[in-house]
Amino acid sequence: MKIILLLKNLFTVLCASAAFCAITISAEDNKPDGFRLIWAGGINLNIDKIMKRISDSGFNAAAVSGANLNTLIPYGQKHNVGIYYWFHIIPPENMKQFAQQMSPEENEILQKLTADKSVDKNGYQFGGEPLPGHREVLESPLLCFHCPETVEFCKKHLDAVFERYPEITGIALDYIGYQNYRCCRCKQSTALFEEYYKKVQSRMSREAALEQFSLETLVQFSNELSAYIRKLKPEARIATHVYPVFIPDPLYGNRLDVDYCCQTVAWFFKPYWPPEKIEKYTRYVIGNEKKYFPGARGVPFIGLYQNPQGHFKSDEEFFNELEVMKKASSARRDLSICSFAPFARNPELGKKLAVEIIK
Ligand SMILES: [Zn+2]
Repeated sequence: MKIILLLKNLFTVLCASAAFCAITISAEDNKPDGFRLIWAGGINLNIDKIMKRISDSGFNAAAVSGANLNTLIPYGQKHNVGIYYWFHIIPPENMKQFAQQMSPEENEILQKLTADKSVDKNGYQFGGEPLPGHREVLESPLLCFHCPETVEFCKKHLDAVFERYPEITGIALDYIGYQNYRCCRCKQSTALFEEYYKKVQSRMSREAALEQFSLETLVQFSNELSAYIRKLKPEARIATHVYPVFIPDPLYGNRLDVDYCCQTVAWFFKPYWPPEKIEKYTRYVIGNEKKYFPGARGVPFIGLYQNPQGHFKSDEEFFNELEVMKKASSARRDLSICSFAPFARNPELGKKLAVEIIK
């Protein structure tokens, strides 16, 4: 934390000479150019170089996975990159009995997807908004958060994270959603829903009630995790990526009690989102960020995947999307991107991004 403390001290000195300076903010927020999170994954080799690359690309926060976070943290501090533990609810072996369940029809969709070995899987969006007329599910199973065992498991996981990595900047939540993008159909979820439906059936259809129940409990679970994280470490920052999509309400993220809510404004795969949609979503993500929680900040998320053997969003396409997002962001310079691989391969891409996003 040395660098952050140093910057904090410097900021205090600067504040002392400025009569109008009334608030104290962290070094990360003090950067005039915003909050920018790269979903970086595991970083095991060339750590100093990679942290510098992350910083040179304009990012000041990184969501990372792996067991070496304590090694990464000092390099993060050196390059002013906050280290976030990448937290998800993909079931480990010993929790598989608490995985979400889907209908026979949804399981059939999953089987077809799994069997489809073509690169684009017939337009599959991998957890993003499906193409019009397409029914999709997430390939990865997810834990059912209506089960108390899942909530307990997640809390124990968070206990272990803060015990092992006490110096992390915060937690980056991911995959908090439904495998079928709508609801869970396990016994526990069904029983809870039936109870809920009894209370609301006089004023809404069963279908509308299921949507409402599923959204409310999804939000409740995420917010319970946030409350628990803040209890464990009050100064910890919480970021989230709203993923997989919740089809009845894709931009529900402002209901989440987090510091940085990354919501997709441009997805990874073809057909790339049109400028009108990028603009509309960016305006919504930022403009409605504080509707439920005054401390929340809406961060536009852009998916960037460049696999020479498969999906490949060109640099040109990416910078066009960025330009639209920037215009719709007004003076704000927040951004979240997954993945880091294109920047690891091509330093010029990061240099250009840093110039584009900061200017
Ligand atoms: Zn369930």
